[in-house]
Amino acid sequence: MSTDNNELSVHAAGVEITGLRKSYGDNEVLKGIDLNVKPGEVVCLIGPSGSGKSTLLRCVNLLEKPNGGTILVGGFNATDPEVNLDQMRQKVGMVFQQFNLFPHLTVLENCTVAPIKVLKRKKVDAQKIAKSHLNRVGLGDFGERYPDQLSGGQQQRVAIARALSMEPTLMLFDEPTSALDPETVGEVLAIMKSLAQAGMTMLVVTHEMAFAKEVADRVVFMDGGVVVEEGKAAEVIGNPQQPRTQDFLRRVL
Ligand code: ADP
Ligand code: MG
Repeated sequence: MSTDNNELSVHAAGVEITGLRKSYGDNEVLKGIDLNVKPGEVVCLIGPSGSGKSTLLRCVNLLEKPNGGTILVGGFNATDPEVNLDQMRQKVGMVFQQFNLFPHLTVLENCTVAPIKVLKRKKVDAQKIAKSHLNRVGLGDFGERYPDQLSGGQQQRVAIARALSMEPTLMLFDEPTSALDPETVGEVLAIMKSLAQAGMTMLVVTHEMAFAKEVADRVVFMDGGVVVEEGKAAEVIGNPQQPRTQDFLRRVL
């Protein structure tokens, strides 16, 4: 896997989340979240199932509309009714547990369709940029294949290259390795680590505590729609202060 091509052609931006609230009917899922990620910082978000982690990520890229609070990403205010949603979404790359590749498109087409349609990039330019990101994830020779000809780990690497091909300033990952066979988890984490080292701003929901400890600048523990504890990765994971964090880590470690 190539790691020599490690510079990013985009400027990483931070995200500032203040007082974020989100309800589904009577169910308040996010109860006033404050969370900042500085440009180039890697923050891992951990917490039990149902604590609101996915909802938080989905609010940041506006797949969900917040009920209150503010989210600032790279000069955009997500909660301003006047915000240009399309422009803001382009700044935020997202990788899901399920890779969601287009099955009828080749790997290269998966990585060029949005840049061509949304960013109005010329096909040759889109292909050049996509190829550089496929190289980055070690799949430079796989452009003509179809998703079902790839392993789960390879498909997830394509999903990362596809997100990067939009040249986002912030990357969100929602349990990117949870659906993978154990033997392919490492290759995806290695790509994420190299992306972190290249200076990308990353907010990562994960249960991979070893990854969080090694790669994250900070770890945020969420439970019941609130941030319970946050700090340096080694401190939160190695020496948690709150009983709920201690409980959770006892179960996952
Ligand atoms: P996590 O990712 O931490 O497991 P989620 O953000 O997926 O948590 O879910 C938090 C809570 O919000 C859960 O109680 C879940 O049932 C609820 N929820 C999530 N999405 C929706 C939705 N689209 N409609 C209604 N409730 C939802
Ligand atoms: Mg989730």
